Amino acid sequence: MSLYIEANSQQIKYINSSVLQYTKSRNYDFGTDNRCNTSNLSKFISHRIILEYDLINEVLGRHEYQRVEKFVQEIFWRIYWKGWLELRPRVWHDFVNFESTVNGDMLEKALAGSTGIQCFDDWISEIKQTNYLHNHARMWFASIWIFTLKLPWQMGAKFFIEQLLDGDAASNTLSWRWVAGLQTKGKHYLARASNIYKFSNGRYPNTQINESASPIEESQNYDVQPNLLKTKECQSNSHILVFENDLHFKTRKELYQKYSKIYLLNLDNSKRKIPLSENVMSFKDNALISFQEIFPNSEILSCGFERIAKELKSIDVVYPFIGENLDYIQNLSVKHHLDISYLYRKEDNLCTSFCNKGFFNFKKNIPEILKLIK
Ligand SMILES: Cc1cc2nc3c(=O)[nH]c(=O)nc-3n(C[C@H](O)[C@H](O)[C@H](O)COP(=O)(O)OP(=O)(O)OC[C@H]3O[C@@H](n4cnc5c(N)ncnc54)[C@H](O)[C@@H]3O)c2cc1C
Repeated sequence: MSLYIEANSQQIKYINSSVLQYTKSRNYDFGTDNRCNTSNLSKFISHRIILEYDLINEVLGRHEYQRVEKFVQEIFWRIYWKGWLELRPRVWHDFVNFESTVNGDMLEKALAGSTGIQCFDDWISEIKQTNYLHNHARMWFASIWIFTLKLPWQMGAKFFIEQLLDGDAASNTLSWRWVAGLQTKGKHYLARASNIYKFSNGRYPNTQINESASPIEESQNYDVQPNLLKTKECQSNSHILVFENDLHFKTRKELYQKYSKIYLLNLDNSKRKIPLSENVMSFKDNALISFQEIFPNSEILSCGFERIAKELKSIDVVYPFIGENLDYIQNLSVKHHLDISYLYRKEDNLCTSFCNKGFFNFKKNIPEILKLIK
């Protein structure tokens, strides 16, 4: 089935039923057999098979803001993290280029799910089998990884990117940094056994973990880098490149039809700094196939973009945000003197402009954002 159809029906079902219970029940991780207390839409959202702004409009079209405020705010967290990283690209580059010097024993045990900490070992199996973890489990997992197992947060964040279907440069890197105490300096997230017991619905009693560790510190300061105002939303070339992490087409259907060729690209592992698991690669491949079914002028590139970059002088590219895709295309553009015109969305640009400070500052601008996206 097309992933667009699957995503749409899952979205409708969630908005029509469970979303009103979100605030009350979202923090419970009832286990893999019961996932109806959150939307499970993240794998679609992170590939923009569902566009964040559309989802917000759909929810608000059906329910009053006050009744779904928490759910809408969580979607805005994702948007905020993307904008925050956009303004501080060095955070991404320092993370992705990090090489561990840690002694391999504990890392091996952790990745094999044989630490003896029952919940943690179960989450390792769960993430490998389902390529998903509940948000609260991600927080506990990251906290145990950093503060009990004393492993570098970067290695845990890389493991998540490798395994999660919704793996995302911004949400993942910055959430790990937030747990470590680097995102809000000195304020870390320390998992507590009583909290794990309660919100795992009693599945994990008496978890032995470090509940008194100090936050991680770093010497770097990541100041905001000037972000040029990006306004382009129109065609400049006859060819366009679309990466697998922005496959939304509803507002661009006519535009996409005008291109003589749409190249679709899911980077293979030899071109990634963080190689992805088979399941994640296969989800991304399917996402491209679903897009291709809609646009006969599109072609999936299975051998990368290098050959075409050598042939073309210029191309439009759907802006893929800070992450592996942007690193790849920027390197190729330098190597082959390829002139790139990025296609931006005005909603993304507006949101990014509010991401220079903390989320609470961003939140004040939500009414203005809602007016634009309506
Ligand atoms: C250490 C850690 C790593 C994470 N890595 C990722 C990641 O790589 N990709 C990713 O999409 N999310 C990540 N998250 C955020 C969150 O855990 C997932 O988005 C959420 O669990 C997805 O499940 P859902 O679709 O049922 O979410 P719901 O609770 O139904 O929320 C709806 C949507 O809002 C967004 N959202 C919800 N919570 C958050 C949040 N805390 N931060 C950012 N966006 C949020 C997601 O797009 C989600 O699909 C991470 C969180 C932590 C603590």
